[in-house]
Amino acid sequence: MVIRRLAITNNHPAMHPKHLLERHGLVAKKSLGQNFLYDEAVLARIAAAADLAAGDEALEIGPGLGALTRHLAQTAGRVIAVELDDRLLPILEEQLAGYPNVTLVHGDILEIDPAAYFTGPYKVVANVPYYITGAILRHLLAGRHKPTLMVLTVQQEVAERLSAGPGDMSLLAASVQFYGQVSVVDGIKAGAFWPRPEVDSAVVRIDLAGRPAVDVADEEGFFRVVKAGFSQKRKQLQKNLLSLGYTREEVQQALDKAGVAGQRRAETLSLEEWAAVYQCLINRS
Ligand code: SAM
Repeated sequence: MVIRRLAITNNHPAMHPKHLLERHGLVAKKSLGQNFLYDEAVLARIAAAADLAAGDEALEIGPGLGALTRHLAQTAGRVIAVELDDRLLPILEEQLAGYPNVTLVHGDILEIDPAAYFTGPYKVVANVPYYITGAILRHLLAGRHKPTLMVLTVQQEVAERLSAGPGDMSLLAASVQFYGQVSVVDGIKAGAFWPRPEVDSAVVRIDLAGRPAVDVADEEGFFRVVKAGFSQKRKQLQKNLLSLGYTREEVQQALDKAGVAGQRRAETLSLEEWAAVYQCLINRS
């Protein structure tokens, strides 16, 4: 991994991503989820959603051509920007010259531990590479040093999935909502990106500063139960929970005690119900 500190030179005006790439003899890589935002008003709204102030430190995932990074650098005290595509580093250095508070890191966000860069609180702001949205969320939420806030531009459908309620829950939504409060703060039309993606996007804000949504004795044990519940999509809870090694009777008793019908499917449960099921499973006599 190479860490580059940016030298102070002059400030370059924003350029259309197509022209910027052409000037460097490059094409956007679909395999790396490269859809660049170039609408300055949209970029400003994303940065504003993170409520950045001079005392804040921010982690940007995939700075790309530096369009969002510039907005973050103007308000945050320090920005760590992690980019996987080494072809983009010279462009980033050029575009972000004049912002000494930005540190470019060449690497894969999924292999980077934020604790290596931040000792205090930090916020994540990113127009995420869509092919690893779930993996990024899991990586940051499972980490030993979690952000206090995430403002993520994701596909519209993913935004809906993350903010879903009981009836449409998924394992990812349950995990994200366990740690943070999710709200969809903005919609972004596909035309704000180049190359234009096939679907519209939305900006999701996840506030992680408070305590987890429900109290559980052991988070790992709790998520083992939730994962088991979601393990086979169409199966009833009472069948899926058997994979944890309990007998049919033990599962039935725990579900009865928790007040959750065994015929229900995982997507219908609230976090409070998951906590009750977990508690009754570990407390069974
Ligand atoms: N932030 C820029 C913008 O808003 O225009 C670019 C966003 S583009 C959707 C996603 C960026 O993430 C690309 O620059 C891509 O190269 C980068 N990327 C893809 N996979 C990555 C990974 N595993 N770690 C870090 N960056 C990654």
